[in-house]
Amino acid sequence: MGFLVVGTAGHVDHGKTVLVRALTGVDTDRLKEEKERGISIELGFAPLRLPNGQVAGLVDVPGHERFIRQMLAGAAGIDLVLLVVAADEGVRPQTREHLAIVDLLGVQAGIITLTKKDLVTPEWLELVAEEVREAVKGTVLAEAPMVAVSALTGEGLPELLDLLAEQAEKVIPRQPTGPARLPIDRVFSVRGFGTVVTGTLWSGSLRTDQTVVILPQELSTRLRQLQVHNRRVGEAYAGQRVACNLAGIEVGDVKRGSVVVSPGAFRATPRLDSELKLLSDAGRELRHGQRVRFYLGTAEVTGRVLLLDREELLPGETGLAQLVLEEPVVAARGDRFVLRSMSPLITLGGGWILDPYAPRHKRHRAEVVAALRAAGQALPQERVLGLLTRRRWGLPLDELALLAGLEAADAAAVVEDLAAQDLVVVLAYEGGQYVADRARVTRWEEEVDALLGEFHRQYPLRPGMPKEELRTRLFGRLPARAYSGLLEYWCGRGRVKDQGGYVARPDFTPSPSGAQSQTLEALLTAFREGRWQPPAPEEVFARLGVKPEEGHELLHYLVQQGELVRVGEGLYFSRQAVAEARERIADLIRTRGPVELAAVRDLLGSSRKYVLPLMEYFDQIHLTRRVGDKRVLYSDRA
Ligand code: GDP
Ligand code: MG
Repeated sequence: MGFLVVGTAGHVDHGKTVLVRALTGVDTDRLKEEKERGISIELGFAPLRLPNGQVAGLVDVPGHERFIRQMLAGAAGIDLVLLVVAADEGVRPQTREHLAIVDLLGVQAGIITLTKKDLVTPEWLELVAEEVREAVKGTVLAEAPMVAVSALTGEGLPELLDLLAEQAEKVIPRQPTGPARLPIDRVFSVRGFGTVVTGTLWSGSLRTDQTVVILPQELSTRLRQLQVHNRRVGEAYAGQRVACNLAGIEVGDVKRGSVVVSPGAFRATPRLDSELKLLSDAGRELRHGQRVRFYLGTAEVTGRVLLLDREELLPGETGLAQLVLEEPVVAARGDRFVLRSMSPLITLGGGWILDPYAPRHKRHRAEVVAALRAAGQALPQERVLGLLTRRRWGLPLDELALLAGLEAADAAAVVEDLAAQDLVVVLAYEGGQYVADRARVTRWEEEVDALLGEFHRQYPLRPGMPKEELRTRLFGRLPARAYSGLLEYWCGRGRVKDQGGYVARPDFTPSPSGAQSQTLEALLTAFREGRWQPPAPEEVFARLGVKPEEGHELLHYLVQQGELVRVGEGLYFSRQAVAEARERIADLIRTRGPVELAAVRDLLGSSRKYVLPLMEYFDQIHLTRRVGDKRVLYSDRA
């Protein structure tokens, strides 16, 4: 048997609070102001023991139209609703509004309770019952059982309790596994304890001393103490009313609407895709771009509705909408929400979240609409694919799981399955995996191949395009680790080859033309002859009649081939000159000990201009090491 939350709904003064007191013995009108004014403002909670032994949390919501936002905060966590209608007054405006709200919020079951039975005749009661039946038509309460009670005489209360137990059986319990999420409905300070927040635990479980995060503030904190119905507990489960004592958090740091979550499981998001229904009695159409109040969980935020497939939504219609909020909220796929107009404040409609972390969309696009519709029904496989088609640069697996609303293990299984069907590509990197849409990767392959082809034509002597250049040209928005994973993936499949820092087509090798081969020979000869006083490149180019631009390409090629060594800026030595110098210098140091630059200069019969950079080069490749103004062999001890 899971835990469940029962909530009241109904017009002000229809007897909700008195009914809750009669059922539980708890007076939820506990705030002084409420006592004085005789109405419920804040949410009241009381434990309710059902005849079958189950303990439910009973939430008493305020009925006055001015307190709809509190009503919404309470109603968001309700599994089973008690729609309260006073027998002497019948259906009133907030009866209808609350009914619409619990319907939009997807409450699972309900009981219609006619209160103040003692004030009316049986004939009158019959008329009111009919009126209520009419009002609930087409809502989640259409088939709900109805009972008439009097809190004054106690009549009908046992029957109501039996009905509650019966309806509770129908409620699908909230998931006690998976990430914890607790939308906060109250924040207060308790002397000697500090900040306490309360709410209904929507999913998962919480343990004393565990670390949690409060969103959207992104505050990390420890649960110092947990209470369920005023009793200290070690652990609290989905569906329970929970009070959390938070370590190191000030009352001012959090507010109603903030959410306590397990670390890493959620992110606050300002842009959500949804399916949205405008109530038949919304009064007028909802326009594209209209500013509204948005209610999800216990949060109330203003934002705009972007209608993706039309210019306006008419009363009674359902459409796809992106909600762009002025403050981010915590949401999951499948969450219900309510929209109200800015002024006058009336409930317009609501719907459910298709994608809590939505990208921007172009409107009136068949593919966007199709992808969202698919996201609406989709099986995990389709959901993952839908997400990847809408995200050009793919996603890390853990993020994909979060966005798809899947547990990490389930997401991994789905992705493995899709990869086996060649619908997605999984790129591995240390500490994680990255997933991209197969069709997208194929397009990238074509782009890379075209770009490399162009590059090889332009620079036939270069080993390939530097990895970093390829990244900035085509994959600047792909995370660096995913990019390395992508190259590895392509290398493994023979799509490209990795030439130590350069990317090339697999069949490419740098090859000079006949004329170039001759020039290369001539260049090499010049540098070999120059030996330890090699010529300046520009000089050789001029002598050989080679354009500097091409000359540099040829020099690079010789460096790549290992025939020349670039010792410094514009300074190239032949391979042989470097090798011989290397040997001679090592010998000199071995026989004579540390040497100064002048000794090397004399040894090579060169000048300081060449020898200084050469020695720096040798330092760099760890042949030598500087000690004061002398050099020793790098391997020698200081
Ligand atoms: P709420 O605004 O829906 O919470 O309404 P309350 O529970 O505060 O009740 C409003 C008024 O109706 C109070 O004066 C109650 O005493 C009265 N009331 C509530 N239930 C009954 C009932 O069963 N019989 C009679 N006669 N009066 C009731
Ligand atoms: Mg009340």
